[in-house]
Amino acid sequence: MKSLLVSLSLSSLLAGFAVAAQNNISIEYLPAKDKEERSAQQLIANSGVNAILTGLSDAHFAFNQTLTIQYGAEDGPMYDPEAHTVYMPYSFVAESLQYFRDNDYQEKFGKEPQLGAIDTILHTLLHEAGHAFVADQNIPVLGKEEDAVDNFATLMMINYVEGGDDAAISAADMFAFESDNRPDYYDFGEYIDEHSFDLQRYFSTLCLVYGSDPEKHQNLLEEVEKDYLSERKDFCIDNFDQLDQSWHQYLSSKKPENAK
Ligand SMILES: [Zn+2]
Repeated sequence: MKSLLVSLSLSSLLAGFAVAAQNNISIEYLPAKDKEERSAQQLIANSGVNAILTGLSDAHFAFNQTLTIQYGAEDGPMYDPEAHTVYMPYSFVAESLQYFRDNDYQEKFGKEPQLGAIDTILHTLLHEAGHAFVADQNIPVLGKEEDAVDNFATLMMINYVEGGDDAAISAADMFAFESDNRPDYYDFGEYIDEHSFDLQRYFSTLCLVYGSDPEKHQNLLEEVEKDYLSERKDFCIDNFDQLDQSWHQYLSSKKPENAK
């Protein structure tokens, strides 16, 4: 399977080296309990996702305290601030893969389901690492932290991962699959949930990808109704610039163009 490659400049690698005296991220695998868990474990280990995550952290979001990523936990994906640990269940990996298979990803989008699942795992790990970075650096959060760290994950992928825009689109597709798989109306209690609805997360991710390069992604927002498509496109361009600049106030490498 093709694995994603991190695109890092020499300057950001050197900057990363300077702060990486201690490990920014430590990876742990709990034992796999059955065949499905074993294959999820192998998918993660062979994908290169941990190298990408660690490379990004070394270059752009160094932690004061080493962050642990633990694969194979029962609950999650989640970040536990007490343990400063991200928990990623094998079942989430298996479920993601199943979503991409069930939605004929290869046939409809020309991409292997395994690759779609890995892109989703990377986005999810970056989302959780975003929570960890907010906690570790005491970053002020003005609004929904869940949305802020979704943006963090997407921006990391767009700016610093080769093919990261395409990978972020796959992660967005997973939100759309999850949304398709639920009843039309939300339960009352879901309105007070800390997360935005899956379909909002889908469009927010696409909006950032579009805004990062409107020419390359000119057809990405074609589902949006014609009446307000051009307004949305303008918004997405401004939105990308604003969020990218805001996050870069807190990242180790302040100018994204330096890290390409
Ligand atoms: Zn979250």
